[in-house]
Amino acid sequence: MNLLKFHQVFTNEEACKLHFKQVRDKNGVVCNKCGSEHHYWISSMWMYECKECHYRTSLKKGTIMENSKLKFKTWYIIMLFMSATKKGFSAAEVQRQLGKKRYEPIWRAMHKIREAMGQREDLYKLEDMIEFDDAFFETSTPEKVKQSLKRGLGSQKQTKVTVATESVPLEDLESGTKSSSCRYFKMKVNQDFTKEGSKSLVTAMIGNNAVVRTDKSTSYVNISDCVDIHMTTKSGKETTNTTLKWTHVAIGNAKRNFLGIYHCIKSDYLQNYLNEFVYRLNRRYFGERLFDRVVLAASTATLQTSG
Ligand SMILES: [Zn+2]
Repeated sequence: MNLLKFHQVFTNEEACKLHFKQVRDKNGVVCNKCGSEHHYWISSMWMYECKECHYRTSLKKGTIMENSKLKFKTWYIIMLFMSATKKGFSAAEVQRQLGKKRYEPIWRAMHKIREAMGQREDLYKLEDMIEFDDAFFETSTPEKVKQSLKRGLGSQKQTKVTVATESVPLEDLESGTKSSSCRYFKMKVNQDFTKEGSKSLVTAMIGNNAVVRTDKSTSYVNISDCVDIHMTTKSGKETTNTTLKWTHVAIGNAKRNFLGIYHCIKSDYLQNYLNEFVYRLNRRYFGERLFDRVVLAASTATLQTSG
């Protein structure tokens, strides 16, 4: 969806609501009270009514838009912004473009969309040949932690992120040159450093039939418990250029991307920013279809945070 097409299709609030209803209908609406999936549509009220128990569900209810006072058209423009370019926008920039007085509702809406993107990503695990590595992202410390720190200590901290990439090794039979092609990526903030914590992170990201390549870091000793084959390479030029190439490229791009858009990222929200980055990265060939996918994600995600 480009700006011109968006302007032609989503001319007003009603056009956005009708589109959102179509997306919801396609996926099915579930009654919050009795769990039935059969509903009447009361067009005068823009509400679904359960055929079993007559419980009414608004168009926003059960989606990330629930509890939001923003109009559908505003949500749609925000989703357009978040899907239209490779790099993304800050909430401050979107607020400026929308000419909105308040920053907070825009900021909140964007984080909900990022959560929805993360939920879509969590539906799939990486398979086959996988590069696996950790990275440290600079984040700012939450206020309460900052207050408890002694004066003079910096407010920046490093947040550990685990990155995995489906990457198929290729070898040119004539020249013997080795390379690899990448498919899907995952990036997860790693906060639980216990054995069980690392294990559940690995199993959430990677299918158990995978072949995983890492460097020789001790933090990966338990990976072989979760996957088929675990291969290690000593850290160095070889890992950067070949074995873990795409993972390192993705980490570098994510860091540059964040630095270019956001003033500083609070550690609590880093996962959301990673969600958006990875969501777009994994759909890099979607082109203009990306917008529809974001609307779908927004209509099917369940709320994680309240308000
Ligand atoms: Zn019902």
